[in-house]
Amino acid sequence: MTILGSGGCGSRGGDGRPDWAALRERMVETQIKSRGVRDPRVLEAMRTVPRHEFVPEAWRAEAYRDSPVPIGDGQTISQPYIVALMTELLEVGPGDRVLEIGTGSGYQAAVLDAMGVEVYSIEIRPSLCRKAAETLKRLGYDRVHVRCGDGYGGWPEHAPFDGIVVTAAPERVPDPLLEQLAVGGHMVIPVGTFYQELKVITRTETGFEERSVIPVRFVPMTGEIERSPGG
Ligand code: SAH
Repeated sequence: MTILGSGGCGSRGGDGRPDWAALRERMVETQIKSRGVRDPRVLEAMRTVPRHEFVPEAWRAEAYRDSPVPIGDGQTISQPYIVALMTELLEVGPGDRVLEIGTGSGYQAAVLDAMGVEVYSIEIRPSLCRKAAETLKRLGYDRVHVRCGDGYGGWPEHAPFDGIVVTAAPERVPDPLLEQLAVGGHMVIPVGTFYQELKVITRTETGFEERSVIPVRFVPMTGEIERSPGG
């Protein structure tokens, strides 16, 4: 039996190990719901996906903090609120197909899988790519397909996508990704260099609509985007 700590923090089980589920519940209440994320499917996924399994051993205790966490190779896993917000902005559900650029730890992809979404995720750094694929497999997130390489060109074999989420910031939106978005689908993407805006780009019958949501800070998108001026 697990007895929650008498201090009322509820973060440790009776055996002294962190009570991860309690930490996740608190994360959802204090960091995510409180900032306005409402989609019940997103909240449920954030409650179930074991974020601590996606961060290096040394950072496990910090996994549910209200901040980004290092995942190795100079990269970070986004703050939980940002993951939840980006997932909500995609407006996807069971059976939809999402392209992710920047697999990183695999956490964002796992959150989408937990919502019944089929995920195609591309990671440019080989070591992170291999690690993420391994973590996702070990935890049974079978709806996530990971590819190692530059995500600039998207994944045309599986296009069009009902949603596209980019978790590294390009200076401008790569054209191939726009082309691979289905009509009615949303792309959620941080755009900029030092100052970045989280944008939602929606494909309509006739073109694209764009809106800015909040200022954000992501690691830069690397690879082809740095070499191909103008798109
Ligand atoms: N979504 C991740 C966090 C990603 S951090 C998670 O949930 O953990 C951003 C990632 O984007 C980094 O791992 C970085 O290597 C990757 N990245 C940067 N440029 C990229 C590109 N052109 N194609 C694919 N991945 C890229």
